[in-house]
Amino acid sequence: MSRFIGSVCRLCRRENQKLFLKGDRCNTDKCAFERRGYPPGQHGQGRIKFSEYGLQLREKQKIKRIYGLAEKQFRNLFEKAERMKGVTGSNLLSMLERRLDNVAYRSGFANSRAEARQMVRHGHFAINGRKVNVPSYIVEKGDLVEVREKSKTLARIGSALESVKRREIPQWLELDSASMKSRVRDLPARDDITAPMEERMVVELYSK
Ligand code: SF4
Repeated sequence: MSRFIGSVCRLCRRENQKLFLKGDRCNTDKCAFERRGYPPGQHGQGRIKFSEYGLQLREKQKIKRIYGLAEKQFRNLFEKAERMKGVTGSNLLSMLERRLDNVAYRSGFANSRAEARQMVRHGHFAINGRKVNVPSYIVEKGDLVEVREKSKTLARIGSALESVKRREIPQWLELDSASMKSRVRDLPARDDITAPMEERMVVELYSK
């Protein structure tokens, strides 16, 4: 899978919004978007007028970058969402939220989705008692996501759980921070996803 190796802060500046890709640093005055809240590049401070297509493209790129997906993965997920019952855009966001790397981040086991993804790949998590090291694994209602016994002493998980007190755990997850377990209480509904995202524009873009 291709991996973005440039500065992730440039992505926030490009999307003109904080995407919170760097964990705790995003809430400090070291945040690049706070210091230079305009698009990167020579013409970043000029006036940019987007066409309808441009707006849709930017929205798709923004959502894709928030969850750290490559275009192909994102497109595949969209096609899956299209085949499901209900509203395609809401299905897409729900599936993005249910990815194991996102659940680990949302539960507070990691400071960012990128960190969560790496920890999943390194085998630090189990679902319903079985080790899972696939970040794109989609959790189901009732699943129990937990930090594996041998990983419970990892300092990075402890510090992430400390800082999660400053972050909100979504309603659809039930965290037991003492035992480092998180239960999927319910599948995430559209209202549970509070970050500003206009999934309708992604549907319009991919329907062209
Ligand atoms: Fe974005 Fe700021 Fe976090 Fe960098 S520090 S990823 S600019 S929110």
